[in-house]
Amino acid sequence: MNIILLGAPGAGKGTQAEVISDRLGIPTISTGNIIREALKTGTEMGLKAKSYMEAGQLVPDEVVIGIIKERLAKDDCQNGFILDGFPRTIPQAEALDKMGIAIDKVIDIEVTDEAIVKRMSGRRVCEKCGASYHMEYKLPQKDGVCDKCAGTLVQRKDDHPDTVKARLEVYHKETEPLKDYYEKQNKLSVVEGQDTVEHTTALILETVEA
Ligand code: ADP
Ligand code: ZN
Repeated sequence: MNIILLGAPGAGKGTQAEVISDRLGIPTISTGNIIREALKTGTEMGLKAKSYMEAGQLVPDEVVIGIIKERLAKDDCQNGFILDGFPRTIPQAEALDKMGIAIDKVIDIEVTDEAIVKRMSGRRVCEKCGASYHMEYKLPQKDGVCDKCAGTLVQRKDDHPDTVKARLEVYHKETEPLKDYYEKQNKLSVVEGQDTVEHTTALILETVEA
């Protein structure tokens, strides 16, 4: 199954993607994680993306479309995948359609802006593997340490409140129109983000397994 997770930054796409990925045995592809990785290793693409990302703006379409094309061509995607953070603009969605990639389901996780601003301050990510945690909703077993790889948990620069506001603006302007785009293709399911990760997961699995 080929799945897209939509939703504002901080709606819990990454966390939910990991759960569905385990459940269905298909990989999660997060453009945010791929870009952060490139930034860390200092590739040309990483350098290009840096200023956009740190300002909470979108990286240019042609850059992320190139990333996705390359990633989806790999063997592990042939039985399905979950896209987390792509597409984020109409041209990106159109590029996916043009690649001839059939999307089965688009799950939109709805969370209010107010809740997002609150949530983002508690978010932490693993410096090493990119896994995400939350100081209230998804604690690691050991304080400040990644459960998966023992890497150090840090706060992302772009999770600073001012940058979060910029990211939400970009989301409403550029990404939210995708709901309409996929509604017209009859692929959209809307899930209300719940108070706990598990409750949201249950709703998403219902949708996926329907
Ligand atoms: P979140 O979903 O929490 O906002 P991501 O990790 O998905 O965070 O993305 C972080 C940043 O990476 C975005 O703010 C943007 O700069 C860049 N980025 C990730 N995916 C895309 C995309 N599909 N198009 C453009 N920029 C992207
Ligand atoms: Zn880790």
